Amino acid sequence: MNNLDLGKNVIFASKFMEKKVRVRFAPSPTGPLHIGGVRTALYNYLFAKHYNGDFILRIEDTDQTRLVPGAEEFIYDSLKWCGFEPDESPLHGGPYAPYKQSDRKPIYKTYAEQLLNSGKAYYAFDTPEELENIRKNFEAEGKTFIYNQETRLNLNNSLTLSNEEVQKKLQNHENYVIRLKIDGNEDIEFQDLIRGDVKFNKLQVDDKVLLKSDGMPTYHLANVVDDFLMKITHVIRGEEWLPSTPLHILLYQALGWEEDMPKFSHLPLLLKPSGKGKLSKRDGDQLGFPVFPLSWKDPKTGEKSSGYREEGYLPEAFVNFLVFQGWNPGTEQEIFSLQELSKIFSLEKVHKAGAKFDIKKAVWFNEHYLRCASHERILPLLKEELKKTDWLVSDENLLKAFFLMKNRISFHKELFTKGKFLFQEPDHFDWNTIEKKFHPNILSILTKIHDKWSIQNEWKSEILEIDFKELVENFQEKLGNVLPLLRNALTGESSGPNLFEIAVFLGKFETIKRIFSFIETLNQKFTYKY
Ligand code: GLU
Repeated sequence: MNNLDLGKNVIFASKFMEKKVRVRFAPSPTGPLHIGGVRTALYNYLFAKHYNGDFILRIEDTDQTRLVPGAEEFIYDSLKWCGFEPDESPLHGGPYAPYKQSDRKPIYKTYAEQLLNSGKAYYAFDTPEELENIRKNFEAEGKTFIYNQETRLNLNNSLTLSNEEVQKKLQNHENYVIRLKIDGNEDIEFQDLIRGDVKFNKLQVDDKVLLKSDGMPTYHLANVVDDFLMKITHVIRGEEWLPSTPLHILLYQALGWEEDMPKFSHLPLLLKPSGKGKLSKRDGDQLGFPVFPLSWKDPKTGEKSSGYREEGYLPEAFVNFLVFQGWNPGTEQEIFSLQELSKIFSLEKVHKAGAKFDIKKAVWFNEHYLRCASHERILPLLKEELKKTDWLVSDENLLKAFFLMKNRISFHKELFTKGKFLFQEPDHFDWNTIEKKFHPNILSILTKIHDKWSIQNEWKSEILEIDFKELVENFQEKLGNVLPLLRNALTGESSGPNLFEIAVFLGKFETIKRIFSFIETLNQKFTYKY
């Protein structure tokens, strides 16, 4: 354990003796929840459960102009599918309700006013056009404009206007914003539980807008106020929020809440499979895999994006895959249930560097969970897929078919594509193999098998196999020459699950029928050659 780890443990230990761990996942419903967001939710969930703490879902919808219809439901549905049930949320309620920021508007105003009254914030009346002009003038001189302690005294705000002027503007309902007043040039230092010591200089932080004249807070004010009021002990969020943290710390200080400030942790980015650049929403279907947990239809453009659920991933496989995109238990074990993960998860094992997205691994996890799935787990999923076909299959046969095919499919829905022959006659044959193996002798063997099985009353795979082997031996033919043809007769393929078990599944009548019609097909195709 290095010093940093030791330090962290001390922090964890002392914190936990005082307070119950409370973490929150705080998405903004400005679009469909991205897989990176689901990973943030997962790590928050696991961290909370590890310490018997609370996992809170808070909807941060203060930027009403960017809200996307359906995005909020998408968050609820996604978390539900993954199995991360929040302890408190807009749907579940809880002691710190409401959990949707648009329902908490008056609360933020109170705190903005507290900051104004204590001189930690000020009104600013600069119009967007004025600010744009100033920005352009700065640019023309090769400088970047920042609204801060160096520029604010030349701007239109309550620090430069007289009290009467300010009151007059407010009475006239002129548009204003409330900005945090940041003074001094010291460094703001904090210990990120993943990244270690992080340092920013105050001069890098601008006097951020906290509240607008319509009473709506910005993300920063609402986020800090809610984390404080909801007694959040640890903020675990994406790396893109790291630059906002110094401002949040200054806000905690300005509001007099420094003692109750949560610990911060910033998760590494999810990178494209190439490792070059952030895995973006646009990458999804272009790279051939979903970047959303569930499929999504853009309400404006109608554009559809695929989702892991609809692609056929089992949620347990998806979650097991996702946890490894930026974390590692430090052992060889790869298969973990959510419950097991919550036992061993720790932020110390979260990587600092970005995680290269590896979809092949997701398929591997799905195959694993598919192969271990119990009847109860898999049957409802199979029945759901069966509805998309016009086949009538009993539950018992559906399960039998699945157990025949499960080692050869990556997704349960492939039972109905790769295993189609179990439900209907083959609609194609593997002619490449058939042509290589075909010989008139083989046609005679197939005919004999047809005849022998037609009178076989013991329809068991061991018996059918013995019948087959005997016949092939009698003809002094190699099993490897006949088997692919018999398999083509029953399945249309040259490889697959145990053929005699397939024959048992199909039943005597169907098996005989398929062999007969295959012999006919071969007769027609090869007669002219021999
Ligand atoms: N609302 C922010 C988001 O959409 C939350 C960031 C945070 O967790 O503080 O990601």
